[in-house]
Amino acid sequence: MMPVGETLLGQIRAVYLGRATDEEILKRKVASGGAVTAMLTYALEKDIIDGVVTAKRTKGLEGEAVVARTKEELLETAGNRWSIVPFAARIKAKIEEEDLKRVAVVCLPCQAQFFGQMRDFPILETDFGNRIKYIVSLFCMGTFAFEAFLNYLRVKYGVRAEEIEDIKLSGDFLEIHRETGVLAIPLKEAFSYLQTGCLVCSDYTGVWSDVSAGFVESEPGWTVLITRNQRGEELVRGAEREGYLELRDGSHVLGDVLKGAREKLARAQKNMAQLL
Ligand code: SF4
Repeated sequence: MMPVGETLLGQIRAVYLGRATDEEILKRKVASGGAVTAMLTYALEKDIIDGVVTAKRTKGLEGEAVVARTKEELLETAGNRWSIVPFAARIKAKIEEEDLKRVAVVCLPCQAQFFGQMRDFPILETDFGNRIKYIVSLFCMGTFAFEAFLNYLRVKYGVRAEEIEDIKLSGDFLEIHRETGVLAIPLKEAFSYLQTGCLVCSDYTGVWSDVSAGFVESEPGWTVLITRNQRGEELVRGAEREGYLELRDGSHVLGDVLKGAREKLARAQKNMAQLL
């Protein structure tokens, strides 16, 4: 059972910095270390799970729920949190449609709460919770209200949706990657276009997950991994034991993660006060 979080970062069992050992994963996921792809590749190849369900960006900023069963398919789905739609219902439908019995879900903190509750405190009439083996949550500062955000990009910067190849966070800027180059937009400006629900969301790391994964500026090339329970610990340590993942102690970056969590909480409190 997933315990309710004790602090702003939730229950913490261990904090690691992880990096994929696979050159191909590293090549594709340099900024963040590729640890999520590496540990889920391990779980798939060792037949611990039969699929990974996540959201994949399609065109522009749109997304869809997809199932990955191989390393190659996982690499395809590896997306960016800024462009992932928080659609838990479609991920649930995918698990049922594909009849996955042991699934890992890569999701955002709001989705992790939904999946965590369905798994650990199932509601009658829902029979998919027992199919969820691992919940991996990505750190999240918010997702954009697509229409409004795309309109703003078009009007202010002349960027068309179909041109956008990727969106990345870099310091205080949001980088819009296009074939023609990278456009850096001040984060404060872009934040006005977050979804309303994100403005009052206070969970930065995904306290309902088995493993939270994210990035801190002070450790480029490494993924921060927070394990929260025995399941999470088994996934991370198993991937290390089998040579998929390189691990270092990550306790020194907890302060950086906490800073992000405090910022998000402060934003939620401020917005909540204005809305109520
Ligand atoms: S900010 Fe919160 S509500 Fe918005 S996508 Fe992230 S976790 Fe979900």
